[in-house]
Amino acid sequence: MHDVIIIGGGPAGLSAASWCDELGLDTLLLEQAEQTGGQLHRIHNPIDNYLGITAANGQELLQQFAKSLEAAEFDQWTQTCISSVDLRSKKISLQSGEQLQAIAIIIATGVRRRELGIAGEKEFLGKGIIETGAKDRESLAGSDVCIVGGGDAAAENALLLAEVCPTVTLIHRSRKLRARREFAEQLHTNHCITVFPESVVTRILGTERVEAVEIQRKEGIKPFQLAVRGVLIRIGVEPNTDLFGDQVKFDEKGYILVNGEQETSVPFVFAAGDVSNPSSPTISSATGAGATAAKVIALRLNSGARKSV
Ligand code: NDP
Repeated sequence: MHDVIIIGGGPAGLSAASWCDELGLDTLLLEQAEQTGGQLHRIHNPIDNYLGITAANGQELLQQFAKSLEAAEFDQWTQTCISSVDLRSKKISLQSGEQLQAIAIIIATGVRRRELGIAGEKEFLGKGIIETGAKDRESLAGSDVCIVGGGDAAAENALLLAEVCPTVTLIHRSRKLRARREFAEQLHTNHCITVFPESVVTRILGTERVEAVEIQRKEGIKPFQLAVRGVLIRIGVEPNTDLFGDQVKFDEKGYILVNGEQETSVPFVFAAGDVSNPSSPTISSATGAGATAAKVIALRLNSGARKSV
């Protein structure tokens, strides 16, 4: 029996584990990937809005987190896949067959990138479909590219790629961009960038690698092809909640609902980080929420709840 089991080892989970450890709770962190860090592994540009620390990228910030955690004594199991969770009884079954039990659970499973679900999307991953503008732009320097999506991520990547690519076409399904005004203005004044509103990509085409995308414009009758060597898909994210079925309450977009103490609709089950915070998916908010969940659990357990659970 652990005091706390934390599911997910991104910034929220690591912060929660660090605080639980500091507060004397017997803590186990479960991470399915080879390494903890979550989305930090996918940030390839500088991080300069995390108060007190600047880092060249997510990896560098993760190294600084690791340094802070050197003396921590919580258990951390990576490459650990969960097969089922019963949130009411706080029982967790692992794919290895092992059964775990805790007094409290903190869900910090984060979000995953949304996919278009079209032909060519999986096939050309790494063969023209790139992961991020910051990481992959050298490989596409001098090539025509397109970006799918109209939010901040799509806009930021379009601006980055326009520094090295002759043409960047931004394709988004709505009439209006969702990206913040500062990005939208830069997109419209950059002579390398063309914006196709009310348009969807229906197929990604090529033989060995990406050669073109098929686009359907709202007012167009027939789809047409645009020759590109690179495609970046940035159509937002969705929360990783498949494990929890309908055991907790969700908002209309599928994010876990929490109160001001990060507690979900199930007593002693908390959620922290992007999985429960669509309005502020930032590293600062995630680490803060992890700390809040840990503090609340410690307060309750130290004030006698341990005996009654
Ligand atoms: P957003 O949710 O903000 O935007 C998603 C975009 O993808 C929208 O244009 C949406 O269109 C479109 N979209 C969604 N689903 C589909 C689909 N199935 N097919 C086609 N298009 C689709 O996501 P982002 O990843 O851009 O940003 C996520 C969060 O991260 C935001 O809070 C953002 O502010 C933040 N962020 C901040 C950055 C920064 O500060 N530098 C950089 C990157 C992200 P529609 O509008 O029609 O729904």
